[in-house]
Amino acid sequence: MQQFVKAKTILSRYKEADGWFHIKYSMNLYRGCQHQCIYCDSRSECYHIANFEDILVKENAIELLRAELRKIKEKDTIGTGSMNDPYMPAERELELTRRALTVIKEFGFPLHIITKSDMVLRDYQLIKDISRVYATVSVTITTADDALSAIIEPGAPVSSLRFEAVRKLSEGGVRAGILLMPVLPFVTDTEQNITAIIDKARDAKAAYILPAFGMTLRDKQRDYFFDKLGQMDKNILAKYQKYYHGQYSFQSPVQNKLSALFSALCKRYNIPTRIPPYQKPDNPQFTLFD
Ligand code: SF4
Repeated sequence: MQQFVKAKTILSRYKEADGWFHIKYSMNLYRGCQHQCIYCDSRSECYHIANFEDILVKENAIELLRAELRKIKEKDTIGTGSMNDPYMPAERELELTRRALTVIKEFGFPLHIITKSDMVLRDYQLIKDISRVYATVSVTITTADDALSAIIEPGAPVSSLRFEAVRKLSEGGVRAGILLMPVLPFVTDTEQNITAIIDKARDAKAAYILPAFGMTLRDKQRDYFFDKLGQMDKNILAKYQKYYHGQYSFQSPVQNKLSALFSALCKRYNIPTRIPPYQKPDNPQFTLFD
């Protein structure tokens, strides 16, 4: 179900930009996400989304964004894609993300897009224009296997389309990298998967790869994930029941081995494992004669 709502604000401001994604303002144009990844953290109770399948469209988002950007004195990175995907299928017709990018370009703000969709290519020229200030596109890819991605991320384009999006953006001069996260214990935490993703990232000329060899698991997110795991493979669910003891995050039991492999391969192929941040322009230097 899709519903239009009026939002009160559109940007959430963090006290400090985080050290990984360098995001200072988080922008969510929708609530809920049509990609329906079985492990999605946004199902957690703390986010107060009653039904994650229902998509709420913030119909006044663009006016709010314009009004809020006008008031910000110090420009810093706007991030989108952490609570829902800015290129979920509804975006094709609604074009909220596209219109928001137009406003971000107009106001000259740096931008970080996180997505699992090759629909981001539709806005290539806008992102390229924003790149004059700063733009980066992080494409999340958790498995190199299209068939598995269709099961664990059922509403999103399969992984091969996402690698292709990274390649096209990179070749077109837009910085694009890969978020290899989450790595799901007993599902995607194999050496074969990590090696295949890094190989394909290299082919796609990814500007960086950031991994997380584990996942969060809390309340509604965990219930949904376990339910889907049980439908997918009862043996894997049995492993969670044996090794997971109710903690907030669950790391892969082979994370040290995978992390060492990851570092060695990225070093060999010279793929950075950090995202370069937006560099604020220096303060103007005043002289006696100004
Ligand atoms: S794309 Fe992101 S926000 Fe959407 S369901 Fe998947 S993990 Fe959640």
